[in-house]
Amino acid sequence: MYSTGLDFGSGEIAKFISSKIVQRECKQYARNGKSTSNVCKCGREVQWHTDKSLECNPDTDHDDWKPKTHTKTMNCDSFGEIFFRGVGHGTRNSPYVRLASDTDLDDVWKILTNSWHLPIPKLLISVTGGAKYFEMKPRLKDMLKQGLCHAATSTGAWIITGGTGTGIMQIVGEAIHEYTMAHDVQDQKLVALGIATWGIISNRSALVGKGDKGLFPATYAIKDVQADTREAPLDHNHTHFILVDNGTENIYGGEIEFRTALESYISTGVTGVAQNQSKSD
Ligand SMILES: [Zn+2]
Repeated sequence: MYSTGLDFGSGEIAKFISSKIVQRECKQYARNGKSTSNVCKCGREVQWHTDKSLECNPDTDHDDWKPKTHTKTMNCDSFGEIFFRGVGHGTRNSPYVRLASDTDLDDVWKILTNSWHLPIPKLLISVTGGAKYFEMKPRLKDMLKQGLCHAATSTGAWIITGGTGTGIMQIVGEAIHEYTMAHDVQDQKLVALGIATWGIISNRSALVGKGDKGLFPATYAIKDVQADTREAPLDHNHTHFILVDNGTENIYGGEIEFRTALESYISTGVTGVAQNQSKSD
């Protein structure tokens, strides 16, 4: 089931991802009947579709818009390493990939272990919930911060979150930052994998590459993150990112099924991995 041991440089990573991995884009406009504007069920405006010469008929509601039938796949061009500009301290670049929500998990595993060289986890610490309007009592927050990274590094766990700089994910990010500063953590020792929906990431255009070379690095400037939108910025303290693309934009939750499947794949497929869920909302 698993293959490891190949040593991938950025050229090999690019070759593997650009040939094996796909991303999605809407190919058929379907008016969202619940919307007062003529936005498509993919979350994009009509204009986006007409610019692509797609037929748009805002007069009719289309009942079913599904990634499988209403999007097309394209070879992945959005991958590489994110350099976070404007965060005030030197974090190392975070490898990332944009991939279709139905990507074969064997291929995802190859990216994680062969391309990114992540150590095989002995435990998953999956932190979910609380993206917005999240409040945690200061004492609990301190306890979480102090305990989380220590637990992860001492047990050989991966921390998995939604990866954005909001709510509980931001607190996890702060914990990683404080731990890294205090402990001089060796490369790869602390793994914090962010799994987010591609279409809700603020400033995601900075992560869009061209062709099959990837972006080493992709410069993600915090100043270009849009405030007051429904989008969410990436949290710069996470060490790796999987950005799940179901062909939608501005619609949350596109990563949930994928994340559950990946966590289960790792938990059941890798000997000795137990799963510890911590839910915050
Ligand atoms: Zn659409």
